[in-house]
Amino acid sequence: GSRFADVAQAPPDPILGVSEAFKACTDPNKLNLGVGAYRDEQLKPVVLSVVKKAESKIFARNENKEYLTIEGLDGFRKATVDLLLGGDHPAIKEGRVAVVQSLSGTGSLRVGAAFIARFMKGSTVYLSNPTWGNHRNIFGDEGVEWKYYRYFDADTVGLDFKGMVEDLKAAPPGSVVVLHGCAHNPTGIDPTKEQWASIADLCKERDLMPFFDVAYQGFATGDLDKDAFAPRLFVEKGLEIMVSQSYSKNLGLYGERVGALVMVLNDKEAATRCLSQLKRLARALYSNPPTHGARIAAEVVNDKELFEEWKGEMRGMAGRIERVRGELQRALEKKYPSKDWSFITKQIGMFSFTGLTPVQVDNMTNKHAIFMTRDGRISLAGLNSAKVEYLADAIVDSVR
Ligand code: PLP
Repeated sequence: GSRFADVAQAPPDPILGVSEAFKACTDPNKLNLGVGAYRDEQLKPVVLSVVKKAESKIFARNENKEYLTIEGLDGFRKATVDLLLGGDHPAIKEGRVAVVQSLSGTGSLRVGAAFIARFMKGSTVYLSNPTWGNHRNIFGDEGVEWKYYRYFDADTVGLDFKGMVEDLKAAPPGSVVVLHGCAHNPTGIDPTKEQWASIADLCKERDLMPFFDVAYQGFATGDLDKDAFAPRLFVEKGLEIMVSQSYSKNLGLYGERVGALVMVLNDKEAATRCLSQLKRLARALYSNPPTHGARIAAEVVNDKELFEEWKGEMRGMAGRIERVRGELQRALEKKYPSKDWSFITKQIGMFSFTGLTPVQVDNMTNKHAIFMTRDGRISLAGLNSAKVEYLADAIVDSVR
């Protein structure tokens, strides 16, 4: 027998498990709306043209494969903070920003969680209810206590702003609040600008530490600056923030694992010391980050021409998603006019939170071979015009 005979089977990941089930399905009509990865109109994965161009330049330079520093590629670190705060931001000039290149959004969140576990001992992390499922694992596995704050209002299919504010007001000072920078996953519902301002003021009053998860900058509206509104506003209001950034979606670098953990602080000395500790944490977790993807991101963001082209490609991706959103809404309105489907185009980003119950989701999958997470979230990035009718019929069949 094995020493590990008593190790229990771990449950499949609720999101990545959907893709595994999709692969195993033989139905020719099958549709994967589970994972949040962009697909083109033929439902094929996309490598952005700017990424290919950046790679050609990188290959032409014939660079070596030696280790990066623990904090990562300098050109990338500059690029990522410029993208987040806008170039020439005073915080950058004043040296108040600590940044480590890390393993995409997830790894950056994990470094942040490790920092919280070590330097904010006893703090509770507040997560939106619902949130991206991995947040619980990331903080939980670091031994950080987490709780939910109210976020989604099922009745209005909108934001429960009152509940959110009540819960954050009740959070002990020194707590951490995880906020989705834009395009909230899974609901697709973001606070308005006024609501963001109130949340920032509340964080200030109650001494809460905002931790922005920025996984969709450029993907929500197609505009990098608009999508960075919230973290920039918090900084403008004098708050110190932590931010995890991901280039999985906006540059389509999913498997390259490109991202950063950023701390924008109020003084330079604190930023210097925090950076030294982030490096200490990263060193033990994975030593130093991977080279290739960071070179691509740096090349694209730091090159005027490629940067402009990237913006166009991002608008293209966001635009395709917006178009199928509209098509799906209209198809549902036609097939089931007595129900209000307007939430579909009110939500933004990659996902729609349909309100389908787990039983209805099972019907979608078992009867119609439409794969999605059991919380009722569908990724519109996995939908094309040709499949809209099929999806709408399945939804109507499942909710009737
Ligand atoms: N945060 C949110 C809200 C996400 O939706 C995702 C990806 O789905 C991530 C973080 C991290 O993704 P990655 O680790 O691929 O950057």
